[in-house]
Amino acid sequence: MLTICHIISHIGGKRVSNLWYNTAMTKIKQERSLCIGCMACVGLAPEKFEVADDGLAQIKSDAQVAEGTVEVDDTLAPTLVSACCGGALSEAV
Ligand code: SF4
Repeated sequence: MLTICHIISHIGGKRVSNLWYNTAMTKIKQERSLCIGCMACVGLAPEKFEVADDGLAQIKSDAQVAEGTVEVDDTLAPTLVSACCGGALSEAV
């Protein structure tokens, strides 16, 4: 269910959610060799993923928490993983 904080946090593509409430985060790992460039991740989390010069998705450099790893809201993580057509995204352990 969307709350007013979710709506406000997405205005302009900027996430300000942490200013409004504490959001649990999940680490997502991208295995880039499996990426097929479907761009589902870019569509779902444009603040975290971008299109690279090779036409595949990559984690934005300022969003990486470790090489090939990004943190996303708990609520978004399962959607990202299931939407990844190439099986390149998984929850990091
Ligand atoms: S959703 Fe998966 S396969 Fe599609 S562009 Fe992103 S990482 Fe690549």
